[in-house]
Order: sequence, then C-alpha cells, then structure tokens
Amino acid sequence: MPKQQKNTDASMDKIVSLAKRRGFVYPGSEMYGGLANSWDYGPLGTALKNNIKKEWWRMFVEERDDVYGLDGAIIMNRKVWQASGHEQTFSDPMVECKKCGNRFRSDEVGFPNIKEEGMSEVFNYPKCPECGGKSWTVPKQFNLMFQTFLGAIDPIDRIFGEWEMPSTSYADHEKKKLLRAEIEDSKIYLRPETAQAIFVDYKHILDSFSPKLPFGIAQIGKAFRNEITPGNFIFRTREFEQMEIEYFVREKEWEKAFTEWQKEMHRWVKHIGLDMKKIHELEVPDDERAHYSKRTIDFEFDFPFGRKELYGLAYRTDFDLESHEKASKQDLKYFDEETKEKFLPHVIEPSLGVDRTLLAILCSAYREEEDEKGEIRTYLSLEPYMAPYKAAVFPLLANKSDLVKKAQEIRKETQGKGTDFVPVAFDAGGNIGKRYRKQDEIGTPYCITVDFQTLEDDTVTVRNRDTMKQERIASKLVHNFIRKSLKSL
Ligand code: ATP
Repeated sequence: MPKQQKNTDASMDKIVSLAKRRGFVYPGSEMYGGLANSWDYGPLGTALKNNIKKEWWRMFVEERDDVYGLDGAIIMNRKVWQASGHEQTFSDPMVECKKCGNRFRSDEVGFPNIKEEGMSEVFNYPKCPECGGKSWTVPKQFNLMFQTFLGAIDPIDRIFGEWEMPSTSYADHEKKKLLRAEIEDSKIYLRPETAQAIFVDYKHILDSFSPKLPFGIAQIGKAFRNEITPGNFIFRTREFEQMEIEYFVREKEWEKAFTEWQKEMHRWVKHIGLDMKKIHELEVPDDERAHYSKRTIDFEFDFPFGRKELYGLAYRTDFDLESHEKASKQDLKYFDEETKEKFLPHVIEPSLGVDRTLLAILCSAYREEEDEKGEIRTYLSLEPYMAPYKAAVFPLLANKSDLVKKAQEIRKETQGKGTDFVPVAFDAGGNIGKRYRKQDEIGTPYCITVDFQTLEDDTVTVRNRDTMKQERIASKLVHNFIRKSLKSL
C-alpha cells in the first residue's frame, strides 16, 4: 500500500537518469563521445512525444472547423528569412569571457539588455559563471539561424581550389570579396521557427479553402537555432520541435482572439497533466519582445533549474504578411465578401515547444514514495493518454507455459485491433514486484496479472499505478476498461 509521498519535486539528475535508464531520452552520439546538448528520443520518449503531438493536433486542428493543418519544408528560399526580418534581427546578445574564453548570452549572465551592438568595452560587470573572471568582450549580436549551403559544390572548397591554382594570384581584399560573394550565392538556412512556412502558404490556403476570418493554420515540425548557451537537458537544444498556430483575425478582433488563445493554452496545460501550481504567466515587457510582436505572454514553468519559458503567446500584428507582401510583390490581402473590404489580417500566435512540453510532463509526473519496508517506489503519474503503454500484461509465473500462453492471449485481446488498438506491454521476466516497479517508472497506468484463477474463470487482477489498488475483473472487459480510462477532456 502506498505510504508516504517522499518527494514530488523531481531533481534534474533523477529525471535525466530515469529518462536514460528506461528508454525515454538518450545522450546523442554517445558511442563517439557524445555531441554536447544533443539528445535522441528512445522508444518510450518517441511514444510520449507522439502522444503530445497527437493530442495537440486533435484538440487544435481536428476538433476545430477553423484551423487548417500544414507540413512545410524545413529548408526554404532565403528570401523568406530576409523578408521576415530573421536574417537581420533573429539574434541574441553574446559576450565572451576573456579569461576562460567561454561564451554566454549576455542577458543570462547579468548584463543589461542590449538591442544594439557597439557598447564600449566593459569590465567589472558580472562574474563569469565558469571561471569567476570579470573581464568581458563587448556584447555582440549573434544570429541564431543555422546556415548551410545549397547545391553539390561546397562554395568554400570551390573558392579555395581557385586560389590554389598556380596561375592565379589574388590580393587579400580580393580574396575576402570573392569568398563572401561565393558564400552569399549559395547560403541557405534551416528554419528557426515553423511559423514562416505558414505565412508563405497562407495564400494557397485562401485559394484552396476560401476560409472565413477568423481562421488558423497549424504546423508541427523541427526548428533549428544555433543557441549560444544550450543546456538543461532537452530544455534548450539546437534542434527541437515546435507546435505553432498562426491565427488570422480582423485587426479590431485581436484582443478577443488573444484572450481566447490564452484560455486554450490553459486548457492544454491542464489536459496534459502539468502541475498547475508551477505554471505562471509573464507579460513580456516592450524591450524584450521579438521584433514582430506587439504583445507577448510567456507561459512559464517551475523547472527544477528555475522558472523558465515553456510557451509563448504573441500578437504578431500584420507584420509577417505585410513583409512578405512587400518582398514578394504578391497581393496577400483577404477579401471580405460581406463588407467588400480588402485588408491584411492580423495574427495571434500560440507557440509551443514539444521537447519542453515533454520535460514539463516528466517533471510534473515524477513521484517517489516510501513503502512499509522503507523502500522507495518511483513512478510517473502520467495522464493515461500520455503514457507510452496504456497497460502491461504479466503472467504471474514466467516458467508456467499455460500461464504465459494465456497472458499472451489476454494481451492481444486487451490491445484490440485497428482504430481500437491500444499499446499494451508484455513482461514475463523477473519477479512480479520488479515488473510492477518497471511499469511504474515508465508511467503505465494499469498492470494486468494473469494467475491460476484466470485459467479457471477468465478473470485477471488490474492494478492501478497511482493507488496500487487491485481489482479482479473478467479478462474480456479489460480492453474496454482501458479504453474508457483514455477518454480525454
Ligand atoms: P527562449 O527565450 O527560451 O529562447 P524564445 O522566446 O526564443 O525562447 P520562441 O521563439 O517564442 O522561444 O519559440 C516558441 C517555443 O519554442 C518556446 O516557448 C519553446 O517552447 C520552444 N523553443 C524555443 N527555443 C527552443 C530551444 N532552443 N530548445 C527547445 N525548445 C525551444
């Protein structure tokens, strides 16, 4: 029986260790010494991530008549990023410690917020978190977009090859100019946000579906940022996934839509089982908002390493459509059939990171409690629709072939088929107590044990992960019992 809840505030060490041990998240490229701040999602992490994306898509695309789904390309024409302002302004202020050479986001080590470069050299500012030094370089804006080159020829190799030809001789200033021109010609970016594909395809959606305002376009996909200080496990990485909606409205309706999406985001964090005491809203001040935003609320979460941004909700005005209209010279206006007006819609953007969602879910669900023997039981109290497995089936004894056979049949029956299918684990290894603990640690809501009585009357015990209470039910009812527990909202 559950005893004393020992610790509901998980430490990062415990989360990272459980995530690795149980196959949620592995360190990236580990067998080659790893790659700093890169992570791979294991079988259970992939399942949890898919469940997050599936629930989001269901709630905000499939269940609504006013939101259209999209899956845009990661590599887009560079002009997109010039028009959107990212090439010029998508940057973080960076400083370098002159003593140890480490680089930091200047706001994170305590420098005043800088928008412009060119502050005079500064000393005696904050201490370097690595070496304690106090001598810094001038803060510089560092563009976060990952760049690469498009095409079969590496422009740097090509230009170097040309310089090395014995017949050529270039002055240094000519070399610089040539190199820059060569790079500029083939430079391309990995997208730093999913939003721009939505703006670029907005006209296609108007033409294909003639939606009436207000309407939204949603996308889930990878984004890439050359973060200066990635870290805190999967909280800040250079490659991550976003779930974004651009919700198009008439300008006069932006405040109403903003409030509606604020409520929707609350509904979402509650639905996925986050600890609501750890959710906070922060009105982002003028000088800290992104270049396109007139109002932003950050949804923050109390992670073990501090209160940090989980999601953002921004009023992007008509900044993006106007910029793309100007740059592409295409008419992006919406025609209102009723009023016969033509105008650029304004945009509300709820922007959610998948990886931060997964981390917040793990932090919220982590539990430790002491049993009567003084042993610690660790479990993840995941919402059933988030759990990688919805149930696990065990034969009581692994060496009794009739029990194992019956348990395999019951597992099949519990899983169901086709659209009714639910993922159910099967475990016949080790003692039953250990098997329970293993499923507890991965958040499986129910464990179904097949014992000798099952062979007589086709009943099984169903153990609840959180309460550890067991009840006996007919095995043929288990599938529906599990499906019922998955009913969301
Ligand atoms: P931060 O201030 O933490 O850098 P941001 O304000 O730049 O975040 P947005 O541009 O608003 O973030 O991106 C929307 C969402 O995408 C964030 O709220 C977060 O959930 C997620 N996200 C952004 N950057 C990262 C990253 N480097 N790693 C993981 N998730 C990220």
